[in-house]
Amino acid sequence: MKKSLPLSDIKSVLEDRGLDQNEVQNVLVEDARTGLTVETLKKAIQNNLFYVQGKYPEIATRNDYYMALAYAVRDRILQRWVASVKQYLQEKHRIVSYLSAEYLLGPHLANNLINLGIYKETEQATKELGISLDWLIEKEVEPGLGNGGLGRLAACYMDSLATLEVPAIGYGIRYQFGIFEQDIRDGWQVEDTDNWLRRGNPWEIARRELSYDVKLGGYLQHYTDRDGKFRSKWIPELTVKGVAYDTPILGYKVNTTNTLRLWKSEAPRSFDFQSFNAGDYNFAVNQKIVCENLSKVLYPNDETLNGKKLRLQQQYFFVSCSLQDMIGIHLRQGEKIEDFQSTFSVQLNDTHPAVAIAEMMRLLLDEHDLDWSTAWRVTSRTFAYTNHTLLPEALEKWDLELFQSVLPRHLEIIYEINRRFLDEVTVRVYGDPEKIRSLSLIGEGPRKYIKMANLACVGSYAINGVAALHTELLKKTVLKDFYALYPEKFSNKTNGVTPRRWMVLSNPKLTELISSKIGDGWIKHLEELSGLEKFADDPDFQKQWMDVKLEMKKNLARKIKNRTGIDVNPESMFDIQVKRIHEYKRQHLNILHVITLYNRIKQNPEIDIVPRTFVFAGKAAPGYKLAKLMIKLINSVGDIVNNDPDVKDRLKVVFYPNYNVTNAQKIYPAADLSEQISTAGKEASGTGNMKLSMNGALTIGTLDGANVEIRECVGEENFFLFGLTAEEVARIKSEGYNPYGYYQNNAELKLAMDQISSGYFSHLDDTVFKDLVKSLLYDDQFLLFADYQSYIECQDKVDVAYRDKVKWAKMSILNTARMGKFSSDRSIQEYCEDIWKVKSVPVSLNGN
Ligand SMILES: *Cc1c(COP(=O)(O)O)cnc(C)c1O
Repeated sequence: MKKSLPLSDIKSVLEDRGLDQNEVQNVLVEDARTGLTVETLKKAIQNNLFYVQGKYPEIATRNDYYMALAYAVRDRILQRWVASVKQYLQEKHRIVSYLSAEYLLGPHLANNLINLGIYKETEQATKELGISLDWLIEKEVEPGLGNGGLGRLAACYMDSLATLEVPAIGYGIRYQFGIFEQDIRDGWQVEDTDNWLRRGNPWEIARRELSYDVKLGGYLQHYTDRDGKFRSKWIPELTVKGVAYDTPILGYKVNTTNTLRLWKSEAPRSFDFQSFNAGDYNFAVNQKIVCENLSKVLYPNDETLNGKKLRLQQQYFFVSCSLQDMIGIHLRQGEKIEDFQSTFSVQLNDTHPAVAIAEMMRLLLDEHDLDWSTAWRVTSRTFAYTNHTLLPEALEKWDLELFQSVLPRHLEIIYEINRRFLDEVTVRVYGDPEKIRSLSLIGEGPRKYIKMANLACVGSYAINGVAALHTELLKKTVLKDFYALYPEKFSNKTNGVTPRRWMVLSNPKLTELISSKIGDGWIKHLEELSGLEKFADDPDFQKQWMDVKLEMKKNLARKIKNRTGIDVNPESMFDIQVKRIHEYKRQHLNILHVITLYNRIKQNPEIDIVPRTFVFAGKAAPGYKLAKLMIKLINSVGDIVNNDPDVKDRLKVVFYPNYNVTNAQKIYPAADLSEQISTAGKEASGTGNMKLSMNGALTIGTLDGANVEIRECVGEENFFLFGLTAEEVARIKSEGYNPYGYYQNNAELKLAMDQISSGYFSHLDDTVFKDLVKSLLYDDQFLLFADYQSYIECQDKVDVAYRDKVKWAKMSILNTARMGKFSSDRSIQEYCEDIWKVKSVPVSLNGN
């Protein structure tokens, strides 16, 4: 901790140096704005309380104090932000532009304190003001501007880009309502709106002056201009204004502070007035509402496509604002438009922003007057595309007529891209009609549609999957024809997570213990965790390690009690599955295991089993009936198991409501066992698996996504593997999967399923789970029953392993020690070297 002098002493030191009263005052004011000592932080909080909020301690509420502290922290970040912008503009540097429809950021305050390196000082400062820092941190409402893994990845990447001192800007949408809040009533999910902005957002700065017009709908006029060039003029039905809201993203213990620029949609002023003057007040008000609706709400579907018009409008809206902004930045640097790709490398986070490829062409052709081939050369050297899914239902397709009604000019451009592309490839695929059909950007059928993944592949210079297995499957399945055409475009970039939020911030005790053994270099260089390996057999270290785990479990047990009323035993094994609720993630396979253990106890009440607490958390898309039934099933089984006296508290089932980043930070550190049990070939990567293993949980999992690489790193003896491989899944499906056979031939499985369907867990109501049972017995795409026996046997091995406390402790330590690869710093390093070709640009403060 920096030693701080009381203000009176600082004053006299400055006076001794010959500064006059005015100069002394200036230094003190500046110091309170940006200083990092306890004394200046205290002063800054008081100043902000007074000057920003107009409050004084006696009347200040908790939120007033939270705001005052947040502004004090923001002042310090702004100083670094301005220095970063200056630095980037001084010399020419290629800037990474990350386009993502989602950012699942999590609360800012504590993370910023850690990255600024003033957590302890702030704790002391608030304490001296008579308030607790934790109490303020808990006050923050997180911006839930994402659904799950994809949005969280974008947030981890922004953290790593800044930490690696890479010039970067993240673009997205400032949804007024983020992902819904989940409540559980009578075992069912109930959704409530997420009004995260209601108390204001101290972390953003509205840039009213920074706005762009975005056209929507309407029609085209074709004509030949004076130079004899054929032109399309887009007459829009509506013009929307996008206003920039900037959130500074500070790196860990560096000055680099990048920008997350989120667009809010508004009605253009001129429009309002025109209609109003014409006397059509209703029309004006209506148009205003239509405009504002664009950035109103995040679509809550994860891994499913939702062909709604508003969603396409949202995607186009933020992409258009972002590209106009980038072009402005590029041109203001005195560069030529045709060199755009030397200023920006633009990453598409899935196909949600893929319309950027058509929009870039439109801007270059229609607004900047480039010819087609020059425009295409710029465009196809600018974009890189990350694929996130192999699920066919998640691959974005837009109905052609709907697309045309929103973006008539873009449809025309996509047709032309497609025409030129197919001309080129017809030769290369020897006119094979099947291949041409599969490569075409336009899908044929009863209704034509646009294939966004194909647009992304054709218009990007690089294409990547998010785990080794996923990339291989992409090459073999959904993108196989593109891989045959452009093998050099493809690479793998295994996902990662930031250790700052997911270890330092969420697990401070473990952080302290690790650093006491190997120093704190691992926070920036996660490979250094391997230094822990030599302590894996050390009994003292094992004890300290498991003591931290127990303390984290006690904390979670307290939260569970508060939130759900369920008593859980912190000494029991915490068996945790937290992620979006989805059939492919197979939370229902997990619950079948719970029922199986329950039945074993009922049949033999004295049976010796390791006591377990099963923790589930996750949201289901509001329209996803089976996922919502899965939540109901978890809660129904919990009601029976938790209250059956025969169980004698050996099993507890908890559904922790409203899974979000804030709750995830409390749950991951408490896990003994991490459930990563998706059907092989369905989970592109997963990142929850990484966060849990880093925090010392052992994984039970299939060979899916990044599980494969986690197992390679931690060692197969420290990983509980079960289930079919992706190849076996594909084979069984092609041969015809017969779930009924598995059901009939497995007594434990049959009993569990019969209980669910007969109403054993639902007050004898045999209708509640009918749809779920029917799907599992007759047309389950996710092969639950095929993996059931293997899963149960593997869980029996987990039971045995957990009894050997010494061995478990060693395995847990080795899991953490060997997770160095899964830092998002490593992922970002790879993107920088292989795809973006950018280097770090250290930022100095005040030119020092
Ligand atoms: C990490 C994370 C996810 C992704 O979890 P998976 O287990 O990889 O699906 C989803 N939601 C939140 C809040 C997360 O922190």
